[in-house]
Amino acid sequence: MEDCIFCKIANKKIPTEPVYEDENTIAFNDLNPQAPVHVLVIPKKHYASLNELDDEKTMAALLKAVKEVARKLGITDYRTVINTGKEAGQEVFHIHFHVLAGRPLKWPPG
Ligand code: AMP
Ligand code: ZN
Repeated sequence: MEDCIFCKIANKKIPTEPVYEDENTIAFNDLNPQAPVHVLVIPKKHYASLNELDDEKTMAALLKAVKEVARKLGITDYRTVINTGKEAGQEVFHIHFHVLAGRPLKWPPG
């Protein structure tokens, strides 16, 4: 999608240092980190949110990418978050998994 910031990252129109990348996914550091580790994992193909993601291969690829990020960063304890919809805190409408680690994470989240 043309005006989507994460499509621009996926298409390398915005230079990004990937934390992890494969054929279908890319992971990069969040611009405004909420923890010492805050990585975003996205599919290269545009899906606005989890509600629109209908491709099981991509779903599996995203979870695999989350695990690869954790493995590459050497973290075993981390939180994975998908905000779906405005009320749940979604601000960028290209689905992304947040991977947070490096500090104690409270539950329930705010
Ligand atoms: P959400 O509120 O779940 O939609 O999360 C959007 C996340 O994207 C926020 O944590 C932002 O800090 C992050 N973000 C927005 N633009 C960029 C960017 N250009 N590069 C990296 N992270 C970004
Ligand atoms: Zn997009």
